[in-house]
Amino acid sequence: MIYLDNNATTRPQEAVAAAMTGYLREHWGNPSSAHALGRRPEGALVRAREQVAALLGCAPAELVFTSGGTEAITQVFRGVYETFPAKRHFIATAVEHSAVLAQLEWLRSQGAQVSLIGVDGAGRLDLGALQAALRPDTALVSVMTANNETGVRMPIEAVAPLVKAAGALLHTDAVQAAGKLSLDIKSLGADLLTLSAHKFHGPKGAGALFIRRGLRLKPLILGGHQERGRRGGTENVPAIVGMGVAAELAQDHLADMPRVLALRDHLEAALAARLPDLRVNGQGSERVPNTSLLSFPGLEGEAILLKLDAAGICVSTGSACTTGQREPSHVLRAMQVPADFARGTIRVSLSRETTAEEIEAVIEQLPRIIAELRTLGPMGR
Ligand code: PLP
Repeated sequence: MIYLDNNATTRPQEAVAAAMTGYLREHWGNPSSAHALGRRPEGALVRAREQVAALLGCAPAELVFTSGGTEAITQVFRGVYETFPAKRHFIATAVEHSAVLAQLEWLRSQGAQVSLIGVDGAGRLDLGALQAALRPDTALVSVMTANNETGVRMPIEAVAPLVKAAGALLHTDAVQAAGKLSLDIKSLGADLLTLSAHKFHGPKGAGALFIRRGLRLKPLILGGHQERGRRGGTENVPAIVGMGVAAELAQDHLADMPRVLALRDHLEAALAARLPDLRVNGQGSERVPNTSLLSFPGLEGEAILLKLDAAGICVSTGSACTTGQREPSHVLRAMQVPADFARGTIRVSLSRETTAEEIEAVIEQLPRIIAELRTLGPMGR
């Protein structure tokens, strides 16, 4: 099995699973308990918060643990909406993940105004349009750090001063950047940042929200005093412990990214040499090192995916969240990728575990599969 769908989820590292097991089997106490059984889990939360804080270069107290990226993003939008009732304008890019797009829909349903900022054909943000959209009543600007389909890196460092000058807050969805890029919150300049552990070899069901010191948002989940009153409910200690270990390893393993980048670039160059009409979406833009969004005109991405799957190679047709929908993804539409190319798109996403042999196997299998599907003609769709 060759796993090249790491933007959907990553394999938890051995050290992550081992650390979590201890908090399921032995140290299963409630971290809020005053007795002996609560002390170890309480300490584990402190440690995990320090580990995740080190990944971002923030203070541990600036982090709130959540059940994942989607919850953290929901907290950002609902929290800002409820905390700043005088500001009813929101800005986001047209290529955000569905977790953000769903919040924009909700905002519209509440009567708030939303401005969507487009990207060019290579997936690059239109900074001028973003600047022009800022208004005195803009509450929040949401720009993802890296796109989950194309891997294109957004210019957060350039967006931050514009947003600050307009008196708005900046959120960046860094779910697809963690573990692939160094994420220093001070250089990014965002007020809010969201993470998901399962995208960087941690467990599912754990995420984190960075809230800049001094900013207080109304909580999404009301209940106990946990997370300093910012998120009620007994903490998912094993998952949070796993996230902490994964964050520490992610920082160490950034050193593997040049190798991953070389493998990704080799894959794209070798496929382009064999398939002249191949389109590499986002090529020419700064991208995270692991992601390759490939379009083969005249074919269906789903058909390519199924053939690769039969050959033991796991990829996706774009965002895992849009699998099953036959519409071309909103990201490719925003990039104005011709429909014929957009339909024939697959996403190959590597990780630090990907080997040169695995990439060679794809270089061998994929052109054969494309040729085979093409001989079937349009009926093969
Ligand atoms: N944001 C981006 C860019 C993502 O790729 C994903 C997951 O696919 C999410 C948010 C949602 O994260 P989670 O799966 O932890 O809810």
